Amino acid sequence: MKTVLITGAGSGIGQALALGFAQDGYRVMVTDMNLAGAQDTVAKIQQQGGEALAQVLDVTDEAQMAAAFAAMVQTWGRCDCVISNAGIQIIKTVDQLSLKDWQLMMRIHLDGAFLATREALKIMYPQNFGRIIYIGSIHSKLASAGKAPYVTAKHGLLGLCKTVAKEGAAHNVGSNVICPGFVRTPLVDKQIPEQAKTFGISEEEVVKKIMLGETVDKEFTTLEEICDTALFLANYPNLGLTGQSLILSHGWEME
Ligand code: NAD
Repeated sequence: MKTVLITGAGSGIGQALALGFAQDGYRVMVTDMNLAGAQDTVAKIQQQGGEALAQVLDVTDEAQMAAAFAAMVQTWGRCDCVISNAGIQIIKTVDQLSLKDWQLMMRIHLDGAFLATREALKIMYPQNFGRIIYIGSIHSKLASAGKAPYVTAKHGLLGLCKTVAKEGAAHNVGSNVICPGFVRTPLVDKQIPEQAKTFGISEEEVVKKIMLGETVDKEFTTLEEICDTALFLANYPNLGLTGQSLILSHGWEME
């Protein structure tokens, strides 16, 4: 049975990934800084007959990251896939942004991804197999006003992914970034009123113009689409797609 560790899996996209991977037969190490959220995800997996463990993990904490992977290896003996998903959003224009907020975003999105990668590779290299998936964003490819630290960090994941693809190849370790457009999760629900305030427009206009304005079908990216894409990448039989980022944005951005 394959195993996966997912960060930020107590809510939104991470929870959906955990449920989807469990349904596909993976044993899932469900981690989140919010233990109650992780436990909720595990309960849902167990209800559907899957196998999962909850582990408290703040991705900025080096010791907690090492402990989560150690627990995984101790329990299941291997780590086939890691999904670096934990993330937050802080919306402020650059002239209004504090160094503290900037650094927090870098710590969660970039330090977190680095630590998850490094700990995973320690297990994946000796077992000669691994798939590393970063949850990037449409903002790995383009910018939006008010999101400088998010855009910077999500672009940074592309560099990390490409480097890991080069270094990991000799050990049969592949890496990818998934770049979703807007998905209705608590993270986005919180942004709608915030963006309405920042830009002085209605919440309806935020959804219609900012979030879905550039999509070809005016649809949100769905949790199912992200999960299907992640499973496709995790189960990809060789390194044919390693280093690539896939934009899942209903045509908002194409390359
Ligand atoms: P969410 O707020 O629903 O879930 C995020 C989870 O991350 C929460 O459970 C939270 O407790 C956890 N978390 C936050 N800080 C953490 C930390 N330091 N350590 C460990 N866990 C932490 O958000 P979501 O929409 O599911 O976002 C998940 C990922 O997807 C993020 O990286 C986000 O940038 C990315 N993303 C989201 C969207 C979207 O539209 N929702 C689009 C593109 C990319």
